[in-house]
Amino acid sequence: MRISSAGLMAGVEEVAHWIAAVLEGRHKTAIITRLVGAAAAVEDERGRRAGLFNDWSREQKEEVYKAFLKALRLRVDRWIDSGKSEGSETPSDRTLSPVDRERIRQFWDNNRVRVWVDEAGLLELRPEAGRQFSGGDVTARFRELIRLAEEIAVFCFSMLLDGDAPHRLMRCDSCSTYFARENAPRKGQPIKRGMYCQKCTQKGVNRRVTSSRDRERARRIELVAEFWLKYDEKKRRVDRIGWVVEEVNKSGKLPQGSERLKPDWLRRKKNIKAIEDWLEEIRRAN
Ligand SMILES: [Zn+2]
Repeated sequence: MRISSAGLMAGVEEVAHWIAAVLEGRHKTAIITRLVGAAAAVEDERGRRAGLFNDWSREQKEEVYKAFLKALRLRVDRWIDSGKSEGSETPSDRTLSPVDRERIRQFWDNNRVRVWVDEAGLLELRPEAGRQFSGGDVTARFRELIRLAEEIAVFCFSMLLDGDAPHRLMRCDSCSTYFARENAPRKGQPIKRGMYCQKCTQKGVNRRVTSSRDRERARRIELVAEFWLKYDEKKRRVDRIGWVVEEVNKSGKLPQGSERLKPDWLRRKKNIKAIEDWLEEIRRAN
């Protein structure tokens, strides 16, 4: 059975993906349109339009949208965090807090659900705001609008949990970006080293590459300095750079798998400076 919210989630196949995108601020215009549309459909006790639809200003619509996001994020975060313990995360262990469970139950209890039959004969559930609103001043109407936005957030959350693969929804441990994994994490399998969005994963890879490059460079400088000093121990007829390069390569002390030292490397300003600094340090230490 498909469930739609008069269009809010119509055509959404992968709910975890959709929720991640929504929490990241995408589909904003569509969501605001749906929130205002849902408000317009709210009736008073005599079955007439309750006038919740109004000429809300851009700022007010923005506020309603933010209330929706906040309510959704609060529940999603609580649910994601329930699968975390002592630095590891097991998405299949996520549990619904009693508060949220009760809230979802209330949603389905309070709102009417119409069953719609489409051209193919498939059934579609269409929730409609069940609560009536008997009107009020602008402040009361706006408060009701906010409440409705929060209600719709509960609906989206319920759809996520009831969807195909809710556990694909993740929150990056570094930058808190929401994203959906391509594959659902294996049941009962904890993620030990944190869960990172694509951007942060790439940053992590870069950081590791840089630090291993840095280490290798430091090792080279150390080695060059060692032979640089040795050059002076005897009177030699070959030039210093050529001799040092040869000795360093012969020494077998370069990190395994790293490139052989080349004279050009020793002529680079940056490297010369680093070698001089290192030599200075050795002299000071002696
Ligand atoms: Zn991230």
